[in-house]
Amino acid sequence: MPSAYRSIGFVGLGLIGGSLARKIREATPEVKVTAVARSADTIVTAKTMGMIDAGGTSLDALDPDVDLVFVCTPIKDIPATVTQLVSKFKHPLLITDVGSTKKEICEHAYGLGSFQLFIGGHPMAGSEKTGVGHADAGLFDGKTYILVPNPDPRYREFRSFIESLGFRVVELAAETHDRLMAYASHVPYLMSGLTVQATQTLSNTDRTLLKQVISSGFYDVTRVAESAPEWGADVCFYNSNEILNEITIIKNRLEALEFLIRTKDRDALKALFASVKTSREWLYLD
Ligand code: NAP
Repeated sequence: MPSAYRSIGFVGLGLIGGSLARKIREATPEVKVTAVARSADTIVTAKTMGMIDAGGTSLDALDPDVDLVFVCTPIKDIPATVTQLVSKFKHPLLITDVGSTKKEICEHAYGLGSFQLFIGGHPMAGSEKTGVGHADAGLFDGKTYILVPNPDPRYREFRSFIESLGFRVVELAAETHDRLMAYASHVPYLMSGLTVQATQTLSNTDRTLLKQVISSGFYDVTRVAESAPEWGADVCFYNSNEILNEITIIKNRLEALEFLIRTKDRDALKALFASVKTSREWLYLD
């Protein structure tokens, strides 16, 4: 299917930006792709890998006729980048982002009052790896792409474009997105980190022994603890209310669990674990 866009730009070309650029290259090779990264090395790598036509380290490197720009920088740089794009381009441009939080970013973009359309987005795929070297079009196969819907007719066109790349689109208000992401991603990341942090309290001898005995269970629970620390700090900063709400719930649950363990209430523990097992099974049921 021909793309609705002739020239697509990326600001930020790491794991997510690079993977999207590769996906777009694969699906619509006729579309011009230009990109901006922080370092010139990233642009050289991206050109060598054939994922972009041209690029550089400032917004001047974007095609002057670009009609869609994906902002794929760390969350903390997204609002300022959107402001810069809005003031730089005077022709109609659609700006979207891939940030893991949505409320503050969308409020900032809508508050600019620009005639340029901003659409909040978040592809629900990724990994603990970062950088253009890990970019992979297959990362997104069969995955969900969250979009913050907009009444502007250009939104429907953009949604169709995202679907044409093979994503299943789920529309969420920005507030709902952030509440659900606390449960789906942000707090699981924190819990994963705490599980690893607890091992730091062991003696060196025990830590060395632990290394020899840990297996897939520990790996599954702690994999995301290797995510970029900058990402972790950003989500705690930009989704603090939702994260703090869930931390309160977990603290209460932890105290209740502690009580059941102290009082050796086997039946209550079994009932608790059974209910958790049922909920987990339901979450992954088609
Ligand atoms: P990443 O691999 O570290 O890539 C970040 C990219 O942004 C790099 O190309 C970096 O340039 C560039 N960059 C950093 N600051 C910049 C600035 N001020 N101006 C222009 N470019 C800048 O990170 P990522 O994992 O792709 O994450 C990017 C975004 O995707 C984040 O907002 C994150 O919340 C979101 N996201 C991540 C995942 C995930 O699993 N990783 C999933 C969904 C959404 P250099 O390459 O030169 O350093």
